[in-house]
Amino acid sequence: MIPNHSPWIAQLNRTRPVVPITKDTSADVVIVGGGIAGVTTAYFILRDRDKKVVMLEADKIAHGATGHNAGQITSYFERPLSEIVAKFGFEMALEGQRLVESAWILLDQIVAEAKLQTSLYRFAGYAGLSSFKQVTKHLKDNRLRVDYGLIPESFVVADHWNRREDIPKEFGDLYTVAPQKDILELLETNNQDYIAALSTQKGCMNSALFSEELIGYLVATHKERFSFYEGSPVKTVRLKSDTATLDVLAHKVEAKRVILCTKGFENFSIINEAGSDIDTKFHHLVAGRIGYMSGHLEPLKNPPVAISYFPRTDQKNNDPTGESYYYLTRRPQEHEGMGSCNLVCTGGPDKVLPNGAEYSRKELCSENIRIEINEFLEDNYCKYPKEEPESPFCWHGPMGYTPNGIRRIGPEPCNPVLMYNLGCNGVGILPSVYGGKRVSQHINDEKLEQSIFDPQDQRCEV
Ligand SMILES: Cc1cc2nc3c(=O)[nH]c(=O)nc-3n(C[C@H](O)[C@H](O)[C@H](O)COP(=O)(O)OP(=O)(O)OC[C@H]3O[C@@H](n4cnc5c(N)ncnc54)[C@H](O)[C@@H]3O)c2cc1C
Repeated sequence: MIPNHSPWIAQLNRTRPVVPITKDTSADVVIVGGGIAGVTTAYFILRDRDKKVVMLEADKIAHGATGHNAGQITSYFERPLSEIVAKFGFEMALEGQRLVESAWILLDQIVAEAKLQTSLYRFAGYAGLSSFKQVTKHLKDNRLRVDYGLIPESFVVADHWNRREDIPKEFGDLYTVAPQKDILELLETNNQDYIAALSTQKGCMNSALFSEELIGYLVATHKERFSFYEGSPVKTVRLKSDTATLDVLAHKVEAKRVILCTKGFENFSIINEAGSDIDTKFHHLVAGRIGYMSGHLEPLKNPPVAISYFPRTDQKNNDPTGESYYYLTRRPQEHEGMGSCNLVCTGGPDKVLPNGAEYSRKELCSENIRIEINEFLEDNYCKYPKEEPESPFCWHGPMGYTPNGIRRIGPEPCNPVLMYNLGCNGVGILPSVYGGKRVSQHINDEKLEQSIFDPQDQRCEV
């Protein structure tokens, strides 16, 4: 058994002591949770509003999902766009997609304005498809993108593929045809199962390092208006009609607004003294999963890339949906002493966290999962070294899924003193950043169009 060892946390080089809250305090806005969602929410509020902000983090900044992910910057929902259209309608669903993609620019703005040094790589990323169902599903989503005016994903289908003629005519303008060997080359695989590839903008960064750097910038730039406390778990959020009181350690924090950026794995109660119960339904809002990753080192020969592989459904996990996939991200390894190699991070396996069970960061990595990832790499990634490479990292992290698979951003309908930027899923970096911006717009009472991210009213129902 191997300890949970994330390359992102290893790069932090943290020297700052954990400073918990030691007295009662008050602020305009309290942010609960110091992952990328909390830190970027603080950034936009401090930048765009004249508010006093306090951040409370139960553990350490960026040591949750933000420190245990794949670090891939990508903008898809983990649910077909067509399903989101079925739920919210065409305009709202596609506008939601556009808004998540707008976070690319927000991310660039943050890096430029705060002069962050954290490496941010951008490149064309690829996904390899191996079944007719996967191909038509992705083409359907591509049709929706084009019809809304979003940039389509480039789509290539193998010329010799025996199902090519079955692709519905309505998708004819959405793909090109190429020899399979070219597709395999894009996907860096020799696995002949892959008969199509799509390509879109992707990137990667260490989101923990980014959050750490950004918090340093916020403290330096907004000393009078910003403070944060680590090792400070919130136990109770008590809501009145225009204020909130939080119990944290032995202290109370008063605020006009509370923003939960806790991803959904909180261990506190919400008492709404100004309306219907929020607590019960809130705690059923996010279902937990644990995602597992492994990282190996390679010579520094190939450029950064991100590739997802959708294996043949009859081969992998007997997954009837065809949705399960592995994803790898390659970038130069920046940890001290390892500067001359690439770090390739691969994920895919995950496990449902039973209802009510608490995730523990200290849980060991399972050898079986590491073997599963290695076998996948051997079968699918042609650059995987022949001799088993050095694999210094193996880690896991919590993912929270809202029932509809979409991040919740905005005021709680039962009491708008409480706001959310949470419910991450396996793809949460760009949605968190967009969520930070949107929350700050709400705080400024900007008129926002209704969106797929709005918290739903059903929690008001008994
Ligand atoms: C294995 C894995 C791979 C992933 N890969 C990718 C990827 O490649 N690309 C991508 O975009 N996304 C990925 N994600 C998702 C991404 O990491 C998250 O969406 C993102 O980091 C969410 O940030 P967050 O701030 O919402 O959550 P977190 O980073 O988890 O932050 C929440 C914080 O809230 C704190 N907190 C909770 N309760 C309390 C309390 N009561 N009081 C005070 N503080 C509290 C926690 O301690 C934690 O620090 C992955 C996630 C995992 C687990």
